[in-house]
Amino acid sequence: LFFTSTGRSCGHPQSNKQVSIMAKVAFIGLGNMGGPMAANLVKAGHDVTVFDLVAAAMDAVVAQGASKAATALEALAGADTVITMLPAGKHVAGLYLGDEGLVAKAADGTLFMDCSTIDADTARRVGEAAAARGLQMIDAPVSGGVKAAQAGTLAFMCGGSAEGFARGKLVLEGMGKNIFHAGDHGAGQIAKICNNMLLAVHMVGTAEALQLGANNGLDPKVLSEIMLNSSGKNWSLENYNPYPDVMPTAPASNDYQPGFMVQLMLKDLGLAMENSLVTQSSVPMGALARSLYASFSSKGNAQRDFSSILEMFQP
Ligand code: NAD
Repeated sequence: LFFTSTGRSCGHPQSNKQVSIMAKVAFIGLGNMGGPMAANLVKAGHDVTVFDLVAAAMDAVVAQGASKAATALEALAGADTVITMLPAGKHVAGLYLGDEGLVAKAADGTLFMDCSTIDADTARRVGEAAAARGLQMIDAPVSGGVKAAQAGTLAFMCGGSAEGFARGKLVLEGMGKNIFHAGDHGAGQIAKICNNMLLAVHMVGTAEALQLGANNGLDPKVLSEIMLNSSGKNWSLENYNPYPDVMPTAPASNDYQPGFMVQLMLKDLGLAMENSLVTQSSVPMGALARSLYASFSSKGNAQRDFSSILEMFQP
């Protein structure tokens, strides 16, 4: 049917991952995230054809065994699954919609998965256009960043039908480990912006609390340990301490090399704010976090790790 069932495991010899179903995947958008994600699908035993507007972006994946297409529509030929990893909603709408778009040109039975972080409205629009053609589409934005994309440990938050999700999960398992079904079209994007808005809020809160302690002469390591064992414990404090030299593996201890860039956090907060206007939601903490990140970004910090927001609070 849609997948070639091999009836056997077809894991790549270099990979620990084993899949019992092989998909014929068209993967479009091979940037910082899409490149390693597509490479992991090759390693997992899928038959992958790639396309990116920037020819050089395809080289690393082709070297690992993917085929190269000259256009997005050429990549589509023979594919049962299409995955896109593009910068923003306008790129996704531009590629999928219209007479020459992927939705119009794909074969019957094609499954679309858009893993880009985009506005939920565009995700719904493209999902509904696919459904009108009888095709399954899921929005499947990721949490984890480039390291997780390389390691194949991304989390996917998916929106779309239960049937589309069940099909997509088999392929997503080649690129990640926590794969959630959040609801209908667009629900994956909503889950993503809720998560990242909360991440921004607790990162800013963690940074200001640590700096307040430091301003009073406390050792940030000691204060971190106290808060980790008290009610201030949170993910940023536990895994991504923003104060330099508290946590050797955190970007703060490596001159705030990303990690997760300020400009990407600002993009996600912008999506959250746009959605709050549409849904008339009150998001005061998210709005303040967006404003702080916008100010900080404009002062030459756009490409630093998002935990560098701590410097805003330093005397
Ligand atoms: P990127 O800019 O590195 O890559 C995007 C790629 O898409 C580029 O190679 C570009 O040439 C290609 N592209 C654009 N339009 C195209 C088209 N019409 N056809 C073919 N290729 C096209 O971006 P990235 O860092 O890989 O991020 C991709 C998405 O993942 C974004 O939506 C981002 O918000 C999200 N995301 C990124 C991270 C991260 O840490 N980088 C983490 C989570 C989510």
